[in-house]
Amino acid sequence: MTKEEDIPDWVGAQEFYDKYEPKEILGRGVSSVVRRCVDKRSSQEYAVKVIDITPSDKITSQEMEEIRAATVKEIDILKKVCGEENIIQLKDCYESKAFFFLIFDLMKRGELFDYLTEKVTLSEKETRNIMRALLEVVKFLHSQNIVHRDLKPENILLDDHMNIKLTDFGFSVQIQPEQKLNEVCGTPGYLAPEIIECSMDANHAGYDTAVDIWSSGVIMYTLLAGSPPFWHRKQMLMLRMILAGKYDFSSPEWEDRSDTVKDLISRMLVVDPKQRYTAIDALNHPFFSQYVVNEKRQFSPYRRFKVVCMTVLAVMRIYCNYRRAKPVTKEVMKSDPYAVKPIRKMIDACAFKIYGHWVKKGQTQNRAALFENTPKAILLAIAAESDETPLHTW
Ligand code: ADP
Ligand code: MG
Repeated sequence: MTKEEDIPDWVGAQEFYDKYEPKEILGRGVSSVVRRCVDKRSSQEYAVKVIDITPSDKITSQEMEEIRAATVKEIDILKKVCGEENIIQLKDCYESKAFFFLIFDLMKRGELFDYLTEKVTLSEKETRNIMRALLEVVKFLHSQNIVHRDLKPENILLDDHMNIKLTDFGFSVQIQPEQKLNEVCGTPGYLAPEIIECSMDANHAGYDTAVDIWSSGVIMYTLLAGSPPFWHRKQMLMLRMILAGKYDFSSPEWEDRSDTVKDLISRMLVVDPKQRYTAIDALNHPFFSQYVVNEKRQFSPYRRFKVVCMTVLAVMRIYCNYRRAKPVTKEVMKSDPYAVKPIRKMIDACAFKIYGHWVKKGQTQNRAALFENTPKAILLAIAAESDETPLHTW
């Protein structure tokens, strides 16, 4: 058998480049870059996650060794979950001394995060479909004692039919049935209170699969409200809000949401993991029952008044426009297309698509910034911002 040191650095990389042609970047992580790539023989498109495992100025060789070990674990879990409908499929992988190349099915529609940014908020119906699929995946993972530990809309991809595919098993771990974890990892806005508690107390009893239900609750809230349940400009205060389970349904987006959906979220965002719903409990909640007609929708008196006024105005406008309507002739189209409302709207929409990125977005609109995947940032934030007693003991 060939000894490891006999294998030249580039063998795995060469095999990858012989078979695939890498194309544009689709996404980036802390130490990975994901690109579209094309199989040279079949012309089939894939996504390749290239993980850099060479020490640099920014990362020490010890950290690089940790990344290598984590990648081996990620590949191992990806192989274990292979064949699950709503989980990304690992097609192939190559390893050289400097890089790992993981080949996945290409999800052209990208992240759920971007879809939500485009739509701002989702309807209860769409949220139901997404959350049902997500909770089914979580139920499966937990039945295998696998904890994902980084559930968030950036790690949920959409296929051509808008089905979700869970990805990024970089923090995932398979535990023994009663085993507890103490490692602090995840993304700040989605961290369960017990993970933050672990960072404050070296003797903490630890956490388990329930942390994924908390993150799923945060995702569900965010899909419906368009903004996360726990957020504060100062990360330290955000972590305190999470520890206290302090969130509410007071923003206007919640006015027309059913009590059923709020009830489900409030059973997932329970601070005590023992009292928190499991994936099975959540899937059995009335929100997922097919008799949607039973759903109770509560309109506030103000909202009802607004709807009546808007309906009256709309009827009047339709009537007046109908009387004033002129036929759209070839001449009008040639001489003044901008005068025809549907065409004007189309031109404006196209212009917005082209120039939309010039519109300056405020800091509050940048949801990505709120959820940057920097687990160590939690510790840094705690160290930097705690002017009182330190929150962690190591
Ligand atoms: P990291 O562990 O560095 O966060 P991910 O596996 O989450 O890496 O991938 C980073 C990003 O790359 C994703 O959030 C997504 O935007 C994009 N991406 C990953 N896999 C695919 C895929 N199969 N198809 C399309 N885009 C992908
Ligand atoms: Mg990711």
